[in-house]
Amino acid sequence: MSEKGNSRVGAIVPAAGQGLRLGAQRPKQFLQLAGRTILELTLEHLRESGEVDTAVVVVPAEEVPAVQEQAARFGSWVSRVVAGGAQRQDSVGNGLAALPEGIEVVLVHDAVRPFVTRTMIRESILTAQRLGAAICALPVHDTLKRVDAGNRVEATVDRERLWRVQTPQTFRRAVLEQAFAQAAARGFYGTDEGMLVEQIGHPVTLIPGSEFNIKITRPEDLLLAERIAAFWQDLAQEKQ
Ligand code: C5P
Repeated sequence: MSEKGNSRVGAIVPAAGQGLRLGAQRPKQFLQLAGRTILELTLEHLRESGEVDTAVVVVPAEEVPAVQEQAARFGSWVSRVVAGGAQRQDSVGNGLAALPEGIEVVLVHDAVRPFVTRTMIRESILTAQRLGAAICALPVHDTLKRVDAGNRVEATVDRERLWRVQTPQTFRRAVLEQAFAQAAARGFYGTDEGMLVEQIGHPVTLIPGSEFNIKITRPEDLLLAERIAAFWQDLAQEKQ
């Protein structure tokens, strides 16, 4: 039996960005990687973890029918494919509204981070069950500088307690719903779900992410992702 016990876990996978920074014709989550779309690869890794009971996928409105068709191979594990909104937060909010009843823990994971591991998923779920909110992150190792408008250094920032945040970001459903309700009431937009939870005064705990858990945003990320995907396939074959 899975360590997560009886809580039902639902993933929200925001894939509704229009981001064309990669210079491609379609948003990056629909580009091919290791023989499928980046979105499909992300969904496969979430499902193969065995820790996530169902997923709601959020895509641009015009992509809903095509993604519904693609998602058919996941059967009822993908419970809904819904349209996103203007900001990532709107998209995640739409996903939250579409989550099936009975889901108690919600794992939000970017479609463009296909290299999410079972360990990250499991740890974030266990920590969210215990403490309400868990976010994957990594400590900063580079030296950090704060600059003025002309890029002149004003200060070297103490990096001792600074972390770079990734997804999965995982929450007890009630905590995330309260955070989204308050943000909507105040017209507040944050840069991640954790920030909305911080705003309701609920503690958010960081757990280890991974350097391989990259967000595919720029052309060089896609090159790196191809290398990680090949490495990942080799590992999977070794395990067989
Ligand atoms: O834009 P950013 O790189 O932060 O996107 C992170 C994830 O959020 C991507 O998977 C993207 O498709 C998704 N997103 C979304 N709706 C938006 C903007 C981004 O679902 N309006």
